[in-house]
Amino acid sequence: MIEKIKQYKDDFKNRISEVGVGEELRQLRTDFLGKKGLVTQVMKDMRELSSEQKREVGRHINELKNWIENEVKEKTEKLKGASSEGGDRSFDTTLPGRKEARGSLHPITQVMEELIAIFVSLGFQVAEGPEVESDYYNFEALNIPKDHPARDMQDTFYIGGEKVLRTHTSPVQIHVMEKQQPPLRIIAPGKVYRCDSDVSHTPMFHQIEGLMVDEKVTFSDLKGVMNIFVHQIFGEKTQVRFRPSFFPFTCPSAEVDIQCVICSGKGCRVCSQTGWLEILGAGMVDPAVFKAVKYDPEKWTGFAFGMGIERIAMLKYGINDIRLFFENDLRFLQQF
Ligand SMILES: [Zn+2]
Repeated sequence: MIEKIKQYKDDFKNRISEVGVGEELRQLRTDFLGKKGLVTQVMKDMRELSSEQKREVGRHINELKNWIENEVKEKTEKLKGASSEGGDRSFDTTLPGRKEARGSLHPITQVMEELIAIFVSLGFQVAEGPEVESDYYNFEALNIPKDHPARDMQDTFYIGGEKVLRTHTSPVQIHVMEKQQPPLRIIAPGKVYRCDSDVSHTPMFHQIEGLMVDEKVTFSDLKGVMNIFVHQIFGEKTQVRFRPSFFPFTCPSAEVDIQCVICSGKGCRVCSQTGWLEILGAGMVDPAVFKAVKYDPEKWTGFAFGMGIERIAMLKYGINDIRLFFENDLRFLQQF
């Protein structure tokens, strides 16, 4: 019988080491010390023993009982501590999981990728150029003379000597044309810099530049490409309008407007009651630019266009302050 008691002690030791929650512990105690528990059973069996043996066995049983009660008490304390510290075996596995917070692409990146996909589908290839440019590539080769207002210190970040932070993506046209012969179709997305800051200007913003050069490229090719792009970004029914304009590197030049996306052309605060919103500048490449890259202007013609990606994103999503894009406020960014 004493052997049995020793065996129970070992059994209890094994089982209590596997207990993870209070419920299991209470059950374990009942299995040993409850009315029908193992220890209680041994006590009942004692009736058949001599009084000498009863004393001996009784002593062992009492020791076992006290030991079990003590173990249960210690384990109870341990479980309490574990649950308050979030111990690994005390959590409720039936609770729904906590979702991992996932990031998403910045709205500017999303719009840029959308624009790239549209032009790539029309056969344009992506080209890139440096953000630090020489005066020649940023201005001179693009037919921007020394006295042009775009060169004013107020607009351009000069960073010493002949170097500037590019004020537009147009210099990429020059780099590409210097290296490649026509026909070519490129788009150049990237960062540009101007010394300007208010609700519609930030010192750094993004542009996408397009250039197509081939034999017999005409203004109607430009119109066709612009129509496809506007319809894909703003919807099939959006009207497009070309207004005469001036840029040093294109001739003739046009500003492209779309029907106001807010009021559908009826006139509102956003479109200053005109029903139209300006979205980009474009035109036929000026022969002076072709001369700078040693293309024969008698043989080749082309069109170019450039637009601000923030502007497109603002119109597409109805955002009224460009600075929101760069404040990194998650409440704003999570909406895209
Ligand atoms: Zn409007």
